[in-house]
Amino acid sequence: MLSEEYTVKDYLDSSSWLSQLSYQRAWVEIDHSALIHNVQEIKKILGPKTALMGVVKADAYGHGNVAQTLLDAGCSSLAVATLNEGIELRKAGITASILLLGATNTPAEIKAIALWDLEPTLCDHHQALLYSDTLKALGATLRVHLKLDTGMSRLGVPWYEATSFASLVQRLPGLEIASIYSHLATADDPNPQVMSLQQERYEEAIAQLNLHNLTPPCLHLANSAATLSDRTCHYDLVRVGLALYGLYPAAHLRKVVSLRPVLQVKARVTQVKTIPPGTGVSYGHQFISDRSLRIAVVGIGYADGVPRRLSQRLQVLLRGQLVSQIGAITMDQLMLDVSAIPDLQVGEVVTLLGKQGNISLEVDQWASLLGTISWEILCGFKNRLPRVNQ
Ligand SMILES: *Cc1c(COP(=O)(O)O)cnc(C)c1O
Repeated sequence: MLSEEYTVKDYLDSSSWLSQLSYQRAWVEIDHSALIHNVQEIKKILGPKTALMGVVKADAYGHGNVAQTLLDAGCSSLAVATLNEGIELRKAGITASILLLGATNTPAEIKAIALWDLEPTLCDHHQALLYSDTLKALGATLRVHLKLDTGMSRLGVPWYEATSFASLVQRLPGLEIASIYSHLATADDPNPQVMSLQQERYEEAIAQLNLHNLTPPCLHLANSAATLSDRTCHYDLVRVGLALYGLYPAAHLRKVVSLRPVLQVKARVTQVKTIPPGTGVSYGHQFISDRSLRIAVVGIGYADGVPRRLSQRLQVLLRGQLVSQIGAITMDQLMLDVSAIPDLQVGEVVTLLGKQGNISLEVDQWASLLGTISWEILCGFKNRLPRVNQ
């Protein structure tokens, strides 16, 4: 019970309550010095005229509020996928330019983009006309980025229509071309064939633009993989996501730069108990003990971003040693076999991803166990996990 003098409001106003609560159950730890290191490592392989755009879509790949650190470390601009992500950055006080990678097609979106000073991607003639009409009515002007489809078959006008598209946009009031870009489909593949074809198409489009006096002020093509694999893809700017967060887009790119993982996922032991032989554990009793076992319950589950398909395959770190997860991972909790640590206490910290002692558990290991990519694992960590600074 709080005393009469010490009200709930006082408690909420005291600066430490939130940070204390953040460490109670489960959390994501963010190492800002690793972020800074990764920006510096990536900048080492960029020429002096190539800028680094930090891709912070999907809550900065699950890392939360890291945009300002990236900017301070040397990113010159940011990219997000959705309008709301852009607005959230502005509300957080970010003043750098913010590219919206996704499509926006309605007057309501266009007004919000103008209001929040975001920079949209244009990828279609109708869209360009709607933008111009809407901005005319507002008396506003926007810097826009033209997207070419050179082989990804996602957003963009076909590369061979670059000239007609750019000349339309240039003639439309309210629109100022800030860049022309494209996106690569296979930059993480050691076989460069498709990437080379895409780059040829991109360069062909740029050559045509130059011929028609439509030379764009900024060219960009590379994601993390192309940034690490091929300097001829760097142009004026590279759009880097994954590598900023310390992960490699493919194993063969590990030798190019030395990146450090930024995120660790941790949770606490919430109960420890002994179960007799023949006892089932968790939903469906996928696990049945063959002997007396010491088990620990941990306060993290698939609603936090620990994929349920890792059930019985997950290993975590406790007191610097590997411990096996048993039974089905549930929405909010999971169980461990801690027979090797008989004196384990409630409240001890379990590392699911990250380092304890000499052992580290990596996002790439989860991705390969699940037959997916590290990007998907990172984006799975939900807001329910507080982000705390390491
Ligand atoms: C997500 C994204 C990126 C960043 O990709 P990474 O592989 O994470 O570096 C770059 N460009 C576009 C268009 C994207 O959608």
